[in-house]
Amino acid sequence: MKVRTAGAVRHSSVNGPGVRYVLFFQGCPHHCRSCQNPETWDPRAGRETDTDAVIADILAVRYLDGVTLSGGDPLAQPEAAAAIAQACRAAGLSVWAYTGWTWEDILTGRAGRAAEVLPHLDVLVDGPFLLAKKDGTALWRGSSNQRLIDVPASLAAGRPVLWTDGE
Ligand code: SF4
Repeated sequence: MKVRTAGAVRHSSVNGPGVRYVLFFQGCPHHCRSCQNPETWDPRAGRETDTDAVIADILAVRYLDGVTLSGGDPLAQPEAAAAIAQACRAAGLSVWAYTGWTWEDILTGRAGRAAEVLPHLDVLVDGPFLLAKKDGTALWRGSSNQRLIDVPASLAAGRPVLWTDGE
């Protein structure tokens, strides 16, 4: 399956807990003010590759705790994001994703087919980056409106349940 990417970082400790592979998807419809990655907005830019190649590259990296799907907006390519997330979870990795849509956008269909990715995620960081709510102290997110959502718990509860790191 085709996927358009902007790049990857094979060992990151700033996009979720532990050591994570961060995959940046190309294309983002949200165009947040003060976005730090505006070069990822154009869905025709970046590099077209194959989800199997991406999965192989991730699984070849040793000592990973998880994978973070970032962007761009990974949920703007829902089939590819779901395939990559599913394979990574099957390999025992935790999967986080960042999106500019809110949980409610996704559940009500305003985010197209983004809901198809949810069954394959552990944590979703939702909502656009809002400069007025920029918060340098907020864990794993840029602005305080964004939520760290425990996806399996939220799907089971039928409402967004916030993720905690167990402390
Ligand atoms: S959702 Fe993320 S990548 Fe997209 S415009 Fe907003 S901050 Fe930038």
